[in-house]
Amino acid sequence: MGERKGVNKYYPPDFDPAKHGSLNKYHHSHPLRERARKLSQGILVIRFEMPYNIWCDGCKNHIGMGVRYNAEKKKVGTYYTTPIYRFRMKCHLCVNYIEMQTDPAGCDYVIVSGARRKEERWDMRDNEQVLPTEREDKAKLETDAMYRLEHGVADRAALQRAVPTLASLQEAQSAWKDDFALNSMLRRRFREEKKTLREEEEEAAALQAKAGLSIPLPMRTSRR
Ligand SMILES: [Zn+2]
Repeated sequence: MGERKGVNKYYPPDFDPAKHGSLNKYHHSHPLRERARKLSQGILVIRFEMPYNIWCDGCKNHIGMGVRYNAEKKKVGTYYTTPIYRFRMKCHLCVNYIEMQTDPAGCDYVIVSGARRKEERWDMRDNEQVLPTEREDKAKLETDAMYRLEHGVADRAALQRAVPTLASLQEAQSAWKDDFALNSMLRRRFREEKKTLREEEEEAAALQAKAGLSIPLPMRTSRR
């Protein structure tokens, strides 16, 4: 198994570090072995996972997101400093080859050839999702004076709407400062009311005792 994998730590008896340097050199192999067989062309074989659902152009079959292929990965360009990689893989159901590449600008993968994307994207505006500030908008805001003015107006209107809310918030906040005073006042009033109620009850009881009645006065009134 010594020749199978460069990471194997078996050192054969005739291995000489001065002469061979490393196990990979001893076996005349690359640490990535078969995956690196086209490295001279800038191609590395990797496991590629289908990032979304597609239709194969060759067999018209649906290929689901997450299906994995051995793909040849190659750098085909750059977007600013981000490399653009292209992946070439054979459909597992037919002889057709599918080519996809990274799209750093759109943070996505695009199909170069051999397949069609099953369209499942949606407009975030339709979904009431939060939209990131669009690049063009941002650029316009920075450069276009008229655009900035219009947006400034809209922002001022929003501020006007927010002002009453802010004022009432401030009011509420100052009211909360008197929370303790308010609370103790309420408690005092409650105690007083309770006291009055008890006094009234006692008064009624005394009246009843005086009249020698065992039933409450209002009941007698209702029976008459
Ligand atoms: Zn196919």
